[in-house]
Formats: sequence, C-alpha cells, structure tokens
Amino acid sequence: MNKIVVTFCLWGLVAVVANGQTQVEPDTALRMLNAQQQQFEQGIVKVADNVFTAVGFHGANTSMIVGTDGVIIVDTLFGPTSAAKAAEAFRQYSEKPVKAIVYTHSHGDHIGGASAFVGDERPDIYATDRFGSAEGVNKAVDPVKMKRNVRQFGRKLSPPESTNRGVAPANTHDSDRGEGYLPPTVTVPDSGLKTTIAGVEIEFHIGPGETDDAMFIWLPKEKVLLAGDNFYSSFPNLYAIRGTAYRDVLSWSESVAKMAEFKPHVLVPGHTMPIQGQEAATAALKDYSEAIRSVYDQTVRGINAGKSPDQLAHEVKLPEHLQDKPYLIEFYGSVPHAVRAIYAGLLGWYDGNPTTLNPLQPKLKARKIAELAGGTKKLTEQMKSALEKKDFQWALELADHVKWLDDGNKKLARKVKITALRGLAAREYNAPNRNYYLSYANELESGHLSEVWF
Ligand SMILES: [Zn+2]
Repeated sequence: MNKIVVTFCLWGLVAVVANGQTQVEPDTALRMLNAQQQQFEQGIVKVADNVFTAVGFHGANTSMIVGTDGVIIVDTLFGPTSAAKAAEAFRQYSEKPVKAIVYTHSHGDHIGGASAFVGDERPDIYATDRFGSAEGVNKAVDPVKMKRNVRQFGRKLSPPESTNRGVAPANTHDSDRGEGYLPPTVTVPDSGLKTTIAGVEIEFHIGPGETDDAMFIWLPKEKVLLAGDNFYSSFPNLYAIRGTAYRDVLSWSESVAKMAEFKPHVLVPGHTMPIQGQEAATAALKDYSEAIRSVYDQTVRGINAGKSPDQLAHEVKLPEHLQDKPYLIEFYGSVPHAVRAIYAGLLGWYDGNPTTLNPLQPKLKARKIAELAGGTKKLTEQMKSALEKKDFQWALELADHVKWLDDGNKKLARKVKITALRGLAAREYNAPNRNYYLSYANELESGHLSEVWF
C-alpha cells in the first residue's frame, strides 16, 4: 500500500503521506473497500467434507462440523434472527441435532444467536475458563463507548456514505443483540482440551489475542483450524477506536504462531472468507504473527530509544515483504493505532518528555497559537487556506484551536471541521477511520455534539 501512497505523493498530495498510511486517492480508497466486500459476501463455504462455514449472515462467521450422530456449531453470530438464517442454510448439508456449541471468545457477534441453532436438545456449550473477561470491563465509561462504537462501525451512516466495517458488512441485523445467548456449560482449562463429540475428534487450544478469553479449534482429521478473531483478512485490530482496554499484542502474535505450527489445510477466520490450501493457510498465519510481532518490536525499540508515541505512530511500518499481503492490508486494524496502544499499554499515557507533564490548557494554548499566527483573523485565514489546499488534518487541528477563542468564528470552525472530516474520510480505506470521520461530521452538522464541541 505504501507504493500507492508514494505514487500519489509524486502527484503533489503531500498531505496524504503526512497524515497516516491508510489514505489514498478517493477513487482508490473506494475501489479497495468495494473489493474487500467479497470477503463477507453471504454464502456457505464447504471447507472440508464435513465442515461448513457460513459467511456474511451477520458480521462474524459461524461454522458447522458434521459428525456421526450430530453436529457441532462454532460461534453463533450476534442474535437469533441472523443465526436462524445461517442455521437454515446449514440444514441443506445436515439435519442432525446440535450436540455442542463452541464459543471461540465472548464478543457479542460470536455468542448472541446460540438459541437459533438448537431445538429441544440441550447441547454442551464450550468456552474457556476466562470466558467473559473481555466484556464488562470499564463499564463506568459505557455511555461514551456506545457513542464511539456507533461511529467506528458507521451504524448511523446513510446508504451513500456506507461502505463496510473492514471485516464485516455495513448493514447487519442488530436489534435482537444477545437474545439467543446460552451460557457455557463446559469449561476449557488453561491446558486446553482434546475430546470427541458426535464422533468428531476436536481440540480446544487456549489462544489469547483480541480477547484474553480466546481459544482456537483444531480438527486433526480434517486438518481444519478455526481461528476465532485472532485471524481475519485485514491487519488485526490490535486497538479498537471505539475504546477498549489494552489487548495483549505479544500474546496475540504468539497465539497465531502456535496456530501456524498445526500447518492447517484450511484456516477458518472469525470474520472473512476461509483460506484454503496448506501452503496458503500456513503462510497466512506465519505472516500474521510476524506482522504483529514486528509492530510490537519496532514500537518497543522506539520506546527504549526515547521516542514519543506521536513519532513512532508515523515511523513504524509493516516489513516490506508483508505490505502487499491481502490479509494484512489495514482495512480494519491500523498500524499507527496499534503503536499508540502498545505505548499506552506498556507505559501509560505519559511519553517521558517533561514538556508534556503539564501541557497548557487547550483554551490558553489556542490563544497563544492565535498570537503566534498574528491574531485570530490570521489564524482563521490559515484554517481556511488549509482546507482549500485539502490539507485536511491541519485544517482540523486549526479548527480545534479556533473553537476555543472568545473572538473566534465558531460556526466557521465547525463548518471547516465537517468538510475536513469528509475530505479525510473519502481518502480512507481503513473502515473504522472512514466511518468515524463521517459519523462525527454528521453529528457536528446535526448539532448533537454541541455540548462536547462548542
Ligand atoms: Zn468478531
């Protein structure tokens, strides 16, 4: 992707490069996001003679493993409505009763539809010891997390603004969220579990990553590996801008390396299309693990060299041999965001520079910036000029200063911010960034943010 950015740079869009590595020319961004859409087109993929994966029935995947006298369901989508559609589609391959349900981890899009798969039978439900540890933390900030969630996933965007969510379609049926959830009945211990269900040999391996309570599933006979959300076709979301606690990046890399050791013939991700073929599946896992590890190592080296998160977010890149891998393009996760998360996860908010121990309060800083510019009028002109030059990030930063000034034109600053956000969004192929920019612009325009922004 860097090649694309460099090409556009030569055409004079210098601002693009200064501003993050997931921004390209608008037509290209849209083309890339539309192409990614194939990764979650609805359908059933037969990944082995007795293993079927339903893609695109909601945001995540659900799989059915057919045994002698029953089936095993791995992950159950977000709510019973979408799950019932997947269950119905599965029935053309097997009508056998559900003997077991497996939750790869506790995120809502994998557990909320379980009831739709079971009839009168009471299947065993497998999850790890730590199941649920990812949810329910930091509840105190739920009100703002909800707002940020809506923005990251673009839940309120209009159809023309919608593209997708990077590893999931833009539109999913969410109103019955969690209504089909059935609690786990069998706990997988830290050492993992090897067993036979409905005549199917199945192994559960602990694999913390996106969540601490994650595991992956190995079918030794079929050589199919079900990865949960530690793998999907996109650079992984090592940090979610909706706001999450630190995700243990190092464990994530190690868990994926552990998966690669199985040399699976098919890799079934938690989202996006399965990867078929031993060579392709194993290479994808190795590359994925290496990519995460490299971002972690580069960040740690930079931290120990005394560099700040702002510096490192612009410096750390994927190794060149991994940049063009289709499953590492930053449609969902983002390298600069991962860098900042690793920094904060290891050291907290403080970057070690005494200048930032007690920075000026925003209003005072805005006044000093205006003075530096030669007055509020001059600062406002600079803001307008940045927008005209499509230097959108700089326009945003100046608009944020103008909004604090008593003699600043707040209405104009808000208008500039809205236009700049839409300008940035158009260039983004990182779906969370794009959705966030657009959603925030709409909120500003509607006046809903008045208590926050002005
Ligand atoms: Zn998921």
